[in-house]
Amino acid sequence: RAKAAGRARTALFDASLRAQLASQVNLERDLRRALEQQQLSLAFQPIYDLASGRVDSFEALVRWQHPERGAVPPSTFIPIAEESALIGQLTEWVLRHACAQLRAFERDLPPGHARPRLHVNVSGTDMCRANFVSQVAAALLSNGLEPGQLTLEITESTLMQRLDNALDVMGRLRELGVGLSVDDFGTGYSSLAYLSTLPITSLKIDRSFVQRLQDQTSDAEVVKAVITLGHALGKTVIAEGIETPDQLAQLRALGCGLGQGYLLARPLSPEAASAVVAVERRWPGPDARPSDFAR
Ligand code: C2E
Ligand code: MG
Ligand code: MG
Ligand code: MG
Repeated sequence: RAKAAGRARTALFDASLRAQLASQVNLERDLRRALEQQQLSLAFQPIYDLASGRVDSFEALVRWQHPERGAVPPSTFIPIAEESALIGQLTEWVLRHACAQLRAFERDLPPGHARPRLHVNVSGTDMCRANFVSQVAAALLSNGLEPGQLTLEITESTLMQRLDNALDVMGRLRELGVGLSVDDFGTGYSSLAYLSTLPITSLKIDRSFVQRLQDQTSDAEVVKAVITLGHALGKTVIAEGIETPDQLAQLRALGCGLGQGYLLARPLSPEAASAVVAVERRWPGPDARPSDFAR
């Protein structure tokens, strides 16, 4: 009986694995098509200077409108792209379109306005491609942008898996003048010792730490330590996933330089983002009440 039950379980397991595999293969095929057929787009979430409330930059986030499935979130298709060879093409698409959009933002600005800056997410595997640096340089050059206008974000986990190979490419990107940021900092397993040797310009404190800030737990101490260490090493510190006025107030009190989150602004369409750059809109300010943030 136990054997039969075991066999049944195995069969069930196989069936669900097969289904998962099939769905993955389908998504991979669909994603390849999406790259050719304009099903991808970019959203732009403002990153704010937490002291002044001014917009510092934007983060480009890829969106996929699947013809049958509707919106497929990046958390579903980025891992599929990373496991197949598609990530290189996807990153190139994102880079080219993000830079073209940055150029378009610039055209909407009054003369004399500071040049807008953009963060783009890339994968750890991109950092291991021989032609990656020239791809980045080409995207900047063909849009007349300065390397300093672009920061590439790499998640801590995908970076640490390939650190040996990635370091060389990261060094060359820094020589070019592009900013580098460790994304989702605190969720991977990079030791603090690495932080001082990585050629990065900023780190982004993962949302999970920001979300636990209001619980008056030791997480506040962790966030405080990361901010202090980051600043001591000369890095810009960015908090992600700010959702409540309380979290915002605490991060400001801790001296966190930059931040983003639904409280301040959601990822925006290019048109909405362009309006934010043009009028230099600030978030409601340090003394705001929760209702002031309602949009
Ligand atoms: P990430 O780079 O850490 O981006 C932040 C994610 O959190 C985004 O989700 C954003 O929409 C969301 N977010 C922003 N503020 C808040 C908030 O206050 N609360 C909550 N709960 N979420 C917030 P999204 O766009 O679904 O992207 C998920 C992840 O997919 C990104 O995490 C990034 O790792 C990856 N990703 C997105 N676009 C790209 C891309 O163009 N290329 C690559 N390689 N990865 C991308
Ligand atoms: Mg990111
Ligand atoms: Mg992040
Ligand atoms: Mg994240």
